[in-house]
Amino acid sequence: MIPGAFAYHRPSSVKEAVGLLSQLGDDGRALAGGHSLIPMMKLRLATPGHLVDLAGIAELKGVRVDGGDIVVGAMTTQHELMGSDVLTAKLPILAETSAQVADPQVRYVGTLGGNVANGDPGNDMPAVMMCLNATYHVLGKNGERRVAARQFYQGTYVTALQPGDVLTAIRIPVPPDGHGYAYEKLKRKIGDYATAAAAVVLTMSGGKVASCSIGLTNVAETPLWAEEAGKILVGSTLDAATVKKAVAAAEAITAPAEDARGPVQYRTKMAGVMLTRAIARAKSRARG
Ligand SMILES: Cc1cc2nc3c(=O)[nH]c(=O)nc-3n(C[C@H](O)[C@H](O)[C@H](O)COP(=O)(O)OP(=O)(O)OC[C@H]3O[C@@H](n4cnc5c(N)ncnc54)[C@H](O)[C@@H]3O)c2cc1C
Repeated sequence: MIPGAFAYHRPSSVKEAVGLLSQLGDDGRALAGGHSLIPMMKLRLATPGHLVDLAGIAELKGVRVDGGDIVVGAMTTQHELMGSDVLTAKLPILAETSAQVADPQVRYVGTLGGNVANGDPGNDMPAVMMCLNATYHVLGKNGERRVAARQFYQGTYVTALQPGDVLTAIRIPVPPDGHGYAYEKLKRKIGDYATAAAAVVLTMSGGKVASCSIGLTNVAETPLWAEEAGKILVGSTLDAATVKKAVAAAEAITAPAEDARGPVQYRTKMAGVMLTRAIARAKSRARG
């Protein structure tokens, strides 16, 4: 299919982009890698009259360390996340997750900002950002604000972004050295969205879990932070009975859609299976 007619804008600063998007209101959309937006436009599920391309804005690119946080520019591609030395050393779950997003062609142009701003529960990065307790930097007509990833997702394609807003960066607190991590994703074939997926980041001390955070992908209208499940694991040695209890708590908060990826019960159970695997792999990687 062919998208409807639209005007194309290419600002060279974030300020200019915010100005344009604020003026255009509901008729304008930010364009990042275009690998979610353009397919939606081709299907006429999105019909913006104006696209504001963020590709010419250098300040939206790159990865930097800021104290105990890593700040990733919104226009950093999924491919660049996989090649970043800083991320490989400090936040290896990002490369592990990126490698499971789509295929290399999509990852060369698809951005981290686009992935988390899109609001599709099938996107892989939002649950990882909730798991890591990331914060999104947003510039809008009233200035900058910061929104916790855990507060950002309100419904399918409904986020805390308002017309005129540009997501500029994603700020992630670096987990302690020796943390365990894993992103486990069940998909029907290479390049597919998740039937269900789970992100786990944990720390161990004296053989017991000192902290644990869990995110779930594509098993509800929004990505999920499984707070209770993480709490159940804290203080345990990750014995089978405690893991089973935590997995049951995570399954209990899911409400997947029944679609081509399977019926509700199957997808809920697959979330549990992915979580069980992610916990085991995170444990095998953790020191302490
Ligand atoms: C074949 C195929 C398979 C895919 N498989 C997967 C998969 O397995 N997992 C997965 O997670 N994704 C998958 N995707 C989606 C892909 O990762 C997209 O690149 C990503 O979802 C959106 O990033 P983008 O940079 O392309 O954003 P765009 O498509 O340009 O934008 C997406 C949305 O976010 C908004 N937006 C983008 N950037 C900003 C910003 N900085 N500020 C404000 N709003 C912004 C846009 O206005 C738009 O509404 C797949 C895509 C394709 C084509």
